[in-house]
Amino acid sequence: MSLPRIVIIGGGAGGIGVATRLGRLLGRKGKAEIILVDMAEAHIWKPLLHEVATGSLDTGIEAMSYRGHARGNGYRFQQGTLTGLDRERRTITLAPIHDGEQELLPARELAYDYLVIAVGSVADDFGIPGIQEHCRFLDTTAQALDIRQSLRKQFLRYARDEQLDQKIKIAIIGAGATGTEMAADMVNAVDQIRGYGFNVQPDMLSIILIDAEAEILPAVVRPAIRESVARKLEDMGVEIRTGQGVTRAEPGRIILSDGTALEVDLSLWAAGIKAPNELNEIGGLETNCRNQLVVKPNAQTTRDERIFAIGDCCACPQPDGSLAPPRGQVARQMGHMVVRNIIDMLNDRPPKREYVYRDLGSLVNLSRFYTVGNLFSFLGGGVMVEGRLARFTYHSLYRRHLLEVYGPVRGSLMMAVRQLSHFLRPPLKLH
Ligand SMILES: Cc1cc2nc3c(=O)[nH]c(=O)nc-3n(C[C@H](O)[C@H](O)[C@H](O)COP(=O)(O)OP(=O)(O)OC[C@H]3O[C@@H](n4cnc5c(N)ncnc54)[C@H](O)[C@@H]3O)c2cc1C
Repeated sequence: MSLPRIVIIGGGAGGIGVATRLGRLLGRKGKAEIILVDMAEAHIWKPLLHEVATGSLDTGIEAMSYRGHARGNGYRFQQGTLTGLDRERRTITLAPIHDGEQELLPARELAYDYLVIAVGSVADDFGIPGIQEHCRFLDTTAQALDIRQSLRKQFLRYARDEQLDQKIKIAIIGAGATGTEMAADMVNAVDQIRGYGFNVQPDMLSIILIDAEAEILPAVVRPAIRESVARKLEDMGVEIRTGQGVTRAEPGRIILSDGTALEVDLSLWAAGIKAPNELNEIGGLETNCRNQLVVKPNAQTTRDERIFAIGDCCACPQPDGSLAPPRGQVARQMGHMVVRNIIDMLNDRPPKREYVYRDLGSLVNLSRFYTVGNLFSFLGGGVMVEGRLARFTYHSLYRRHLLEVYGPVRGSLMMAVRQLSHFLRPPLKLH
């Protein structure tokens, strides 16, 4: 009898944990065949992407090769992009892989017995003209590296003597956690780069943070947190423009809802997310207006019990009628639950665990300048924290991720390597 095959698509914050756990629990023991599919070759934890974009994080150290990880953890890896799903034949289709003009791998089909879809989210441009063409996004490592490259070029251009009187104008559209953290990280990047032969001034960046909502961090409930983050950003020289949306982007400028045209050297779009377009009614599954796969509370898709979806790409109903939010901790917790539910199904038991989101805390980290947030929000509003405790807790989410993915010994070693690297290398990746 052939082994049941469990295919996980997307090795991000949620999917990598599912592949790792299933690989260790079933794959290594020869109880099931586990295959992880991702369009990228290496895993970078998405909440770190803004640090990749500014160069404060070195992908050479942080990126984890899926192939290397698969080998040590009882699963197989296939690189590919999900483009189709045939539920009757229980197969998925992966797009061909090209290297420029050359096709390296043709389109392929992959059979599954159980499927976990964990392909995350992409920026939602809400159909606003010019955004796709003229703004940068922070959805993938490749895009983050592209932003870094572009920033480096701007720094080089600026450092020529004749450019010194011109500021580099950066617009960040969307003042949620991603936009605010990115703004602070850019200020930090300029601060750090000055000691390394770049003839730049501390105020060389003119960063403008734009949001259509009345205040920054609209998803943060506590006004005190929103206010303190806004104050810190303004102290850093970031200009905040709330209550104004972007209606159009053009080469070198963006147009605001009041008609103002802002000249910009770089625009970054961080104003909202949706699930990737490929998911829209894929294989006849139920999706919502944000392309998210509609799932039951146990993460099974509503129209197919063998297909699960977790993390940003799913719409998981909560007891109060809301949906689980798109967060790293949600993807991870849903992943843990799905592993148990699939194991139950393999043992002919119903997959009865249901996901209820408990907000352990949300923190905003303004680079090395300031960290603030709310902990244990599910306990009567929670506790506001800032400073060292907040920073420690913020970083502990990634530490937990490392421990989960690498295991306790390797995970601890990875943390030590990161610390050593901070000590030995420049604070910014300069090449
Ligand atoms: C800059 C930034 C900062 C953030 N900070 C925080 C934070 O502090 N705290 C927090 O809780 N959340 C944060 N988030 C949100 C968090 O990153 C996401 O909620 C989380 O990563 C979602 O996990 P996921 O597994 O659903 O998707 P992801 O982690 O995005 O993983 C999706 C994976 O699927 C792969 N993939 C995508 N499409 C396909 C396809 N068609 N075929 C094959 N593979 C595919 C991708 O390569 C990726 O590996 C942040 C996000 C960003 C961008």
